[in-house]
Amino acid sequence: MTDEYRLALEQRATLIEQRITDLVERAVRDHEPWLAAQGPEANDTGTRHSWQAAARMIAAYRDRYGITGTAPLGNHSSFPGNISVFSGCTSDLRVGSYGDTWLGFYRPLITGSQYDIRLDSVNLNAHINANGYTFSNVVRSTTAHEFGHALRLGDHSNLPTRLMSSSRNRNVITGPTTTEVNESNSYY
Ligand SMILES: [Zn+2]
Repeated sequence: MTDEYRLALEQRATLIEQRITDLVERAVRDHEPWLAAQGPEANDTGTRHSWQAAARMIAAYRDRYGITGTAPLGNHSSFPGNISVFSGCTSDLRVGSYGDTWLGFYRPLITGSQYDIRLDSVNLNAHINANGYTFSNVVRSTTAHEFGHALRLGDHSNLPTRLMSSSRNRNVITGPTTTEVNESNSYY
């Protein structure tokens, strides 16, 4: 990437951050109802940071999708991620020797209506051998984790009791916690 490109991208990033800051400040000033759903901004630094992060994310989402109502993420009928059954869908789950660093991999395909979940047999086996795990547990944990991404959950590097944590014990954590189920449900 040339310096010129990098500078242009950095300037855009700064503008986007500034726009989000303005949106949150305006929402606080005007006591916008969607923000009330977040609860009050706390005094201790850690809670205030997560409150700010959540408010910024919601503000950016509302801005992007033109949501103006009181529900933080809009009502269900306007939500872009409604789940429907895709008639051309097969029940394939790809398992192969990908030789990359991941155990499982999730990505939406270019068409936007199909999704790809892969398991890497090489790394799964290496992981099982290194940790004395049981094959079925690791496969279940990895598959459930990737489906978590498909249902809009992000990765955690810490919080080892969570399915979406990369530091979880894959022999034990093979399904989502209630918190993760609730988080995912809140998007739909
Ligand atoms: Zn992940």
